[in-house]
This record gives sequence, C-alpha cells and structure tokens, in this order.
Amino acid sequence: MSRKDHCSICEKETEKGIYLLRVFICEDCEEEMIDTPADDPKYDYFVKRMAKAHRSMIPS
Ligand SMILES: [Zn+2]
Repeated sequence: MSRKDHCSICEKETEKGIYLLRVFICEDCEEEMIDTPADDPKYDYFVKRMAKAHRSMIPS
C-alpha cells in the first residue's frame, strides 16, 4: 500500500506515516510527538490538531 495522505499536524503529503485514532500523521510529526513531554505546550498543540482532524472526519 503506497497511498499518499495529508498529515493532520503539518499538512505535508507523504506515504510515510501512521494512523493514530484513524488520523494520519507523518513520520516526522510522529517522532516529534514521541519526543515531546506531555507537560510541554507543544504537546497540547499536537493533541488539539489531532482532535480537530478527528472531528472533521465525522459527518455532521
Ligand atoms: Zn506531519
């Protein structure tokens, strides 16, 4: 499978990434998230981007 997708964090188009809670994130953002402690303000940013992407998948 080599389908390209847009990263939900940085919006980069890549085939290298993973699905987290059905939200696609690229390799770079995945690594950054792993390296970011939960009390870092940046972690909050990641979580918010993920939540927003997750919500946008649910048809309203
Ligand atoms: Zn990314």
